[in-house]
Amino acid sequence: MKIIDSFKAIKSSVPERVGIVAVSKTKPATMIEELYFDAGHKVFGENKAQELDAKHAILPADIEWHFIGHLQSNKIKYIAPYISLIQSVDSFKLLTEINKEALKCDRIIPCLFQFHIATEETKYGFSIGEVYRMFDDGRLDELSNISVRGVMGMASLTSDERQIRSEFKTLFNNYNLLKNKYFLHKPEFHEISMGMTDDYQIAIEEGSTLIRIGSGIFGER
Ligand SMILES: *Cc1c(COP(=O)(O)O)cnc(C)c1O
Repeated sequence: MKIIDSFKAIKSSVPERVGIVAVSKTKPATMIEELYFDAGHKVFGENKAQELDAKHAILPADIEWHFIGHLQSNKIKYIAPYISLIQSVDSFKLLTEINKEALKCDRIIPCLFQFHIATEETKYGFSIGEVYRMFDDGRLDELSNISVRGVMGMASLTSDERQIRSEFKTLFNNYNLLKNKYFLHKPEFHEISMGMTDDYQIAIEEGSTLIRIGSGIFGER
């Protein structure tokens, strides 16, 4: 299927309120252009700073780039001037480094807290306790150039739908706990990024506001 047809099929199966990040990692800029020009889609996700930087340099300036991979501190400076949303913030140290780079380019950088909801050891992310501690001991107050917009998570790679659903429920629950404790009158804290090609329908049923689709749009990697 053509990229635009795959994209339209997914878009038409998703409620209006749910955003779509087209995950273009490993795919050439020409494929991004196809979706940008033919479907008018402007939100793309990448997981490597250097690859993102190369694409950003040659693609239209109004593309909203989301960073969705494990971000190393020494790479933040490359993407800080233009990144729309860093979805994969997984440590306080990273947050302070992002804040530092955001200050340098006089920006406020929107971020999501990535939670570890899967059973696999390899998936990065906070636990709810770690995030509580960051808020409660006041460490976050000093980060004036960070805007926390919500949460992100990846479910386990399994065909067990019950397990996937329960992991998404955990993320949804974490979002609500944080919303009620720290963001009650802060509408900018609204994003629950969960769901990929194989599990986005379950994620939407469990309250996702933003799905991240790669292979379902661009084909297998
Ligand atoms: C690669 C990736 C995706 C997209 O995965 P698909 O299964 O190809 O849709 C989504 N989120 C993250 C964090 C990824 O690394």
